[in-house]
Amino acid sequence: MGVNFRYSGIYDSLVHKALGKEFKPDASLADYRRMARELEAEWRPKEQSILFGMESATGLKFRMDVECYLITHDLFAPFSDPLTIGIHKPSGELREPKRLASILCHEAIHNLFMQHKEKPPWDIGTWRRLWPDEPWNVQNHIPVYAVLESVPPAADYLKHELGVLREHGLTNYLRAWEIASADPRAVLGSITQNTQQ
Ligand SMILES: [Zn+2]
Repeated sequence: MGVNFRYSGIYDSLVHKALGKEFKPDASLADYRRMARELEAEWRPKEQSILFGMESATGLKFRMDVECYLITHDLFAPFSDPLTIGIHKPSGELREPKRLASILCHEAIHNLFMQHKEKPPWDIGTWRRLWPDEPWNVQNHIPVYAVLESVPPAADYLKHELGVLREHGLTNYLRAWEIASADPRAVLGSITQNTQQ
């Protein structure tokens, strides 16, 4: 089990088209190759302890490798299915490999939940019951941050992510982190217990 970095010229060109930006195939491929190399060096040595840590914190198993598409558009918001990350900043520069690894950690947890989405307690229905007064984007991220806080190499990447959340004033994410980080083990315990009810 691991993460495979992928590039699809068709996917990348469609994203550019949808967002109204010119697509330059050669430059995009060169940027992808450079970033994939740097991300390999940053991520690969920590990968197995991070992925096993996520599995042991949740009791879930990755059922398949995580295919991680790197897109050369300066997409602001990454997503987890298919796991897709933009490698450029809005300024056009390439992102730092540490920043990409922190995004990958976060999205890998969403991806793990997605692989088991039919099964409570790692689903939005359970989280709605546990935190009924929070908006869905907070409910959705409390488990993510509780796991990130519980897995040491991922917790280092989380510090990096928190800097970005504060810089951009992403209050729902910060609210989810506040709830999760107060006592990550208790949060994970309350989610797990909810299965047995
Ligand atoms: Zn997320």
